[in-house]
Amino acid sequence: MKYLIIGNSIAGVSAARIIRRHDKDGDITIVTKEAYPFYSKCLLPYYLRNEVGFDETILADENFYKEKNIYLIKGRTVTKVLTDKNKLLLDNNQEILYDKLLIAAGASPIQIGNGPNIFSLRSFDDVERIKEAAARLKKAVVVGAGPMGMKVAYGLKGRLGCNVIVLEAGKQVFTRILSKRAAFILSKHLINKGIEIKTNSRFISYDGKHVKIDGASHIEADFVVMAIGVKPNIGFLNSSGITTNTGVIVDSYMRTNIDNIYAAGDAAEAFDPVTKRYTINATWPSAVLEGETAGCNMAGIETQIKGNVSSNSIQFFGLSFVSAGLLESDDQQIEEEIIDEDIPKNLFKRLVFLDNKLVGFEFLGDVQNAGIYLDILKEQKDISQFKNRLSYLDFDYGKVLKFAGTEERFFL
Ligand SMILES: Cc1cc2nc3c(=O)[nH]c(=O)nc-3n(C[C@H](O)[C@H](O)[C@H](O)COP(=O)(O)OP(=O)(O)OC[C@H]3O[C@@H](n4cnc5c(N)ncnc54)[C@H](O)[C@@H]3O)c2cc1C
Repeated sequence: MKYLIIGNSIAGVSAARIIRRHDKDGDITIVTKEAYPFYSKCLLPYYLRNEVGFDETILADENFYKEKNIYLIKGRTVTKVLTDKNKLLLDNNQEILYDKLLIAAGASPIQIGNGPNIFSLRSFDDVERIKEAAARLKKAVVVGAGPMGMKVAYGLKGRLGCNVIVLEAGKQVFTRILSKRAAFILSKHLINKGIEIKTNSRFISYDGKHVKIDGASHIEADFVVMAIGVKPNIGFLNSSGITTNTGVIVDSYMRTNIDNIYAAGDAAEAFDPVTKRYTINATWPSAVLEGETAGCNMAGIETQIKGNVSSNSIQFFGLSFVSAGLLESDDQQIEEEIIDEDIPKNLFKRLVFLDNKLVGFEFLGDVQNAGIYLDILKEQKDISQFKNRLSYLDFDYGKVLKFAGTEERFFL
């Protein structure tokens, strides 16, 4: 069996590992357009900040591929997939045949405008470019106050003398992953750490010296980093017959509309059981789960994905937050919310319910039990019995576990 994987990052490597576990003899080839071995993209902001070195970001060196008998093609871009011939083309016109194909090509930053001093952060090469700019230039503007923008700001703030302004077109930071209240608490914390945040400030253009903001105001900037979102790398699938929307559409087996072709990670658009929408869960844990599920199915172990819900877990300047599921209170689907908070201590906990099921939560400050809440969310079970207790800041779910399966006793 010839397995071919496009993408040498977390989705592709997770799939390859699982395939090798179940098929000791099959040929596994991974193609990547990057020149590096498998590294952690999550650590790039810390590499930008000089908190970690290059070697610490490497997750699999040459030995890994040797041990697992995986053939890695580095520095080559896939340009076309010919599904009727079970083969793909590389940018050097090389053809590779496959029996089973995984599309794990990830995503690329969305960029508005370009010029010598406009950057984005997705790869090692991007970090090197930004580092080089930040060594010469001091006034940085980051466009977008989502997780990526704030991570870039965090990375830049650690560089000597770098002044960082974050622009956000919307009314709050972390629009899609935090409620207004939680975003307010986190913004306060970031501002205290020296990051300037301008909300309601839509980026229009950059002329090399000034950023123009909607409403005709300008701010001085030596360089700009774009962090307004990502788009899946699926251009090479044009005219392949593979169904795409924003990403590659997959079923619960991570299979595309073509039987022997699968997709996983930031390139895949899968059904989210909580939001009940097709979504790209562009996070590391989701790419692991999707890659492993695809790998199992490619190796002939029929496996449906379970618990693939959107979640985010981040720490900025010592303040952590975890959020998952549905959060917007103006979303019609949200029936009930419970909030507990201690603002002076930067503690905030919000739970969102629908039909007595937990459909979303956000924790700021103390995130210790977040994993357990994530499990409750994934299970989608009726929790009316202990719903109210779940919301207390000091609620200890461990006690529930201690009385294993006897939740009633817990409430006696
Ligand atoms: C700076 C940064 C910080 C992040 N922090 C976090 C975090 O804290 N927590 C979290 O959960 N997530 C985080 N993420 C998101 C997380 O890294 C992604 O969700 C994850 O990397 C997606 O994995 P993937 O394998 O689908 O794609 P990617 O990691 O994007 O990898 C795609 C692979 O495909 C290859 N490729 C693409 N196109 C082609 C082609 N045409 N031909 C050949 N090869 C190709 C690339 O070379 C690469 O090997 C962060 C991302 C970035 C960039």
